[in-house]
Amino acid sequence: MTDITFVRGDITEQAVDAIVNAANSSLLGGGGVDGAVHRKGGPEILAACRDLRASRYGRGLPAGRAVATTAGRLPARWVIHTVGPRWSAAEDRSALLASCYRESLRAADELGARTVAFPAVSAGAYGWPLDDAARIAVETVRGTRTEVEEVRFVLFDERAYEAFTARGR
Ligand code: ADP
Repeated sequence: MTDITFVRGDITEQAVDAIVNAANSSLLGGGGVDGAVHRKGGPEILAACRDLRASRYGRGLPAGRAVATTAGRLPARWVIHTVGPRWSAAEDRSALLASCYRESLRAADELGARTVAFPAVSAGAYGWPLDDAARIAVETVRGTRTEVEEVRFVLFDERAYEAFTARGR
């Protein structure tokens, strides 16, 4: 059984085996969670991401996929980079958002990570409505078979924290 917990805070400060980065497909950094991960984790993470671009992901990491690197100077051991879909009113992309959580947990299992922290993927710059992002996140983690013992949702502000805890009850 995976324990699902919710905390308000900064994901880069979490002392877990792996933190998940809400990356963009370039893997070369951005704002929000991505900016904080690279700023606080140091250049080792970016170097690992550049290697991934040069080897497996020449055209970038597609939305819905996940890949792990070192966590550099962060307290976590690994960063799992996943690319959320941008919100679209015209097209239902929720399968891709669910895939981010599933694929991140799969990457965590491959690493042997037992504690994993997730941000609210796609709910920032990518514009996903918070309640729906929270529903997909919590339902997908609940429905995924994994060896991960704790999934910790780390929410940056009160609004996100409320939306996620409402799904966790
Ligand atoms: P995306 O591009 O997938 O939407 P963002 O990084 O822009 O990703 O935002 C995802 C969510 O993470 C938003 O709810 C944002 O407020 C939150 N967030 C931003 N910085 C941090 C942080 N350091 N720790 C945890 N959550 C964060």
